[in-house]
Amino acid sequence: MHFCIVGAGFSGAVTARHLAERGHRITVIDERAHCGGNCHTARDPQTGIMLHHYGPHIFHTAQENVWQYVQRFGKFAPYINRVKAISQGRVYTLPITLLTINQFFGRTMHPAEAREFIHQQAVQDITSPRNFEEQALHMIGPALYEAFFKGYTTKQWGLPPTDLPAAILKRLPVRFNYDDNYFSHPYQGIPIEGYTALIESILTHPHITVRLNTAFETFRNQNNSDHIIYTGPLDRYFRFCHGRLGYRTLDFERIDAEGDYQGTAVINYCDATTPYTRISEHKHFAPWEASLFSKTVCFREYSRLAGPKDTPYYPIRLARETTMLDRYVRTAMATRNISFLGRLGTYRYLDMDVTIGEALEACTIMDQHLALGKPL
Ligand code: FAD
Ligand code: UDP
Repeated sequence: MHFCIVGAGFSGAVTARHLAERGHRITVIDERAHCGGNCHTARDPQTGIMLHHYGPHIFHTAQENVWQYVQRFGKFAPYINRVKAISQGRVYTLPITLLTINQFFGRTMHPAEAREFIHQQAVQDITSPRNFEEQALHMIGPALYEAFFKGYTTKQWGLPPTDLPAAILKRLPVRFNYDDNYFSHPYQGIPIEGYTALIESILTHPHITVRLNTAFETFRNQNNSDHIIYTGPLDRYFRFCHGRLGYRTLDFERIDAEGDYQGTAVINYCDATTPYTRISEHKHFAPWEASLFSKTVCFREYSRLAGPKDTPYYPIRLARETTMLDRYVRTAMATRNISFLGRLGTYRYLDMDVTIGEALEACTIMDQHLALGKPL
């Protein structure tokens, strides 16, 4: 069969490779000038530092098959994300650990004492939290919530935390020990040659043709494939017939400096009075080569509502969007010869490992359908 795959990010590349290895002919198109989707990395022409163009990306997973999969296409260096957070003029570690708790409250508690102390701080009469704020008050109490989450979350989402789902906070652990690893997954690392090289390597197969600078809208009439796998925005494919699904976008403000600007890869700015959410210093995502560069490049990150021409980053998924999404899903189910995949095709926030895992699962389902002669 001939497949057209829209999008050369992880979703498109993993699917393309799988189908190519089964003998199918694949055309991958992407409207950008590069492969890699939002994970794109490239060396800065001025300094040589590997930059993460759409925000910093750290690979972390508990899925053994996904970890084995990415190792086939590129070498990873171990990398542990240790985030610092500035609140009310002081620096702490994040996620909230025993160090954060002891420093914030000026104490020297042991784990069991800290657990009991936080339990006392937590608002006891919230039994089933209905929103982000209630979840935070229930987990850590008002002082830590106001110091680390209220301002940052309001800046990140442009909404009061009372209007946001509790699930957003559940992504971050609270630890009663000194483990300051931002993620809890057993496999963590960064590809030494960057994500774009890794994804290009996935796409390097005699049955795969990649066409960059090609938007689906302009290619639609030339498309003679048997089936389309579409990893672009779901609403855009249907020409926004049910309205626009809302996204947050990010503006990156570049800082060029000598030496070491902030001493670590990521510092979050938790106070509402600081307009940006975080600063990332990209050479620290590659500690194996950071000392080779005398200069440094950082980015201040500002979050705002995406307009029609902006890069969509975080799906908003509040009541308005989920109702609209249901309509698009029904329209998609009724459309033949196309499958929707990935963070934009399904309108969800997906980490890279989840993206790859879902693409591999979709391939298994397609194999089964093809073997049985069923439509995809
Ligand atoms: P994308 O990477 O978005 O790829 C889709 C591609 O489709 C794009 O290249 C786009 O140009 C193309 N496209 C869209 N529409 C069209 C069209 N009509 N015609 C042609 N081409 C089109 N995950 C982690 O695991 N760790 C992290 O540290 C991490 N950090 C993140 C930081 C930020 C700021 C954000 C927003 C996300 C982060 N992620 C992280 C998630 C990660 O970016 C996603 O998992 C990944 O990008 C999903 O891949 P994808 O292929 O589904 O989508
Ligand atoms: N968050 C916060 N303060 C921080 C870091 C995170 O309030 O210093 C909140 C914020 O709402 C964010 C959520 O916790 O969206 C999840 O954090 P994560 O680091 O997973 O956010 P991401 O940047 O990946 O969305």
